[in-house]
Amino acid sequence: MSAKFRKRKIQKQAAGEEFRTALSKKEYLALDPGEFLLGIDIGGTNVKYGLVSVEGEILTSNESNVSFDRYETPILKTVLKSVKQFLTHRHTNNILVSRYGKPLKPKGIGISTTGQIDVEKGLVAGTCGNPPDWQATALKEIFEEKFSLPTTAANDGNCMILGEAWRGAAQNYKNVVGITLGTGLGGGIIIEGKLLSGTRGFAGELGHIPLYARGKECTCGLKGCAEQYISVSALHRRSREIGQSFSNARRLCQDIKQGKVHPDMLALFNRWIDDIALFLAGMVHIFNPQLLLVGGGISRQEDLVIRPLQAKVEAAIMPSFRGSVHLQAAELANKAGLLGACKFWLEQEKEGYFTGSSSAVK
Ligand SMILES: [Zn+2]
Repeated sequence: MSAKFRKRKIQKQAAGEEFRTALSKKEYLALDPGEFLLGIDIGGTNVKYGLVSVEGEILTSNESNVSFDRYETPILKTVLKSVKQFLTHRHTNNILVSRYGKPLKPKGIGISTTGQIDVEKGLVAGTCGNPPDWQATALKEIFEEKFSLPTTAANDGNCMILGEAWRGAAQNYKNVVGITLGTGLGGGIIIEGKLLSGTRGFAGELGHIPLYARGKECTCGLKGCAEQYISVSALHRRSREIGQSFSNARRLCQDIKQGKVHPDMLALFNRWIDDIALFLAGMVHIFNPQLLLVGGGISRQEDLVIRPLQAKVEAAIMPSFRGSVHLQAAELANKAGLLGACKFWLEQEKEGYFTGSSSAVK
């Protein structure tokens, strides 16, 4: 068997399995056109895309690398090409066609992306320079023209919390503040069951709340932003500054548990947790949430991250707030953005976004 053929066969099996795990054949057959959306989650490294039912099930999904040639191919070009391939791929579109005997078309496209997103216009209004060539990308306009489907775009931190509120750890909570600890610091806020959008949809830029006056310069041009202190990248940078760099956060946590790290690194890690707790205490005082949701790979560290954070936040808030806020790890990992992008689309539809005069949908 040639390597190429073997690879194709594995992909076919993987696609089939992925498809089967979502819904039963009976449920597929009962699925009507217009009962699912195309979700797209655009990050700095990868783009994920999938068909998501209006109930919040990922029917089938895939992902492509967008930084494979260091963005020599513009990120938008890669995304459009990948999505087009996905929609015409026989493991997605044709399975639906053959099972139903008719083509099924998503009812719309929900996009989650990094950057400050003007949700009214569906365009990227700010990026802090990353990823390159992303500033001012008119996502809604471009996707509607290319695919003839009504489209929304929203910030990835906001989509993460919407996804978790829809199908993950934040279900059944009305007031939630969510953060994602990763390369940056993403976030989103849900108040009375609704995403807090702000005037232009920029609300929830939690990474750029100033944490230290005259602090470190941030990619956004300001100083002392929370992202520069409590993202995982910040932990990496600060560890390098004290000559204790680590390869990845999971390994670091393993070493901490086994008592293998230098006391300076342990102190740094604890200070990092203190900074996150200080930041979250501020969120508690502003929003009085029932739930603080922490996402990102490191949130799986229950003993080293989640439990210490819960205790430290509790100690850092005013007595009247104590005992009413729960802190826990996000559940959906990298699926949250895809689901949240579609949930945002559905919420916008409910509010008449597509029938308004600003919509480009015919
Ligand atoms: Zn900043």
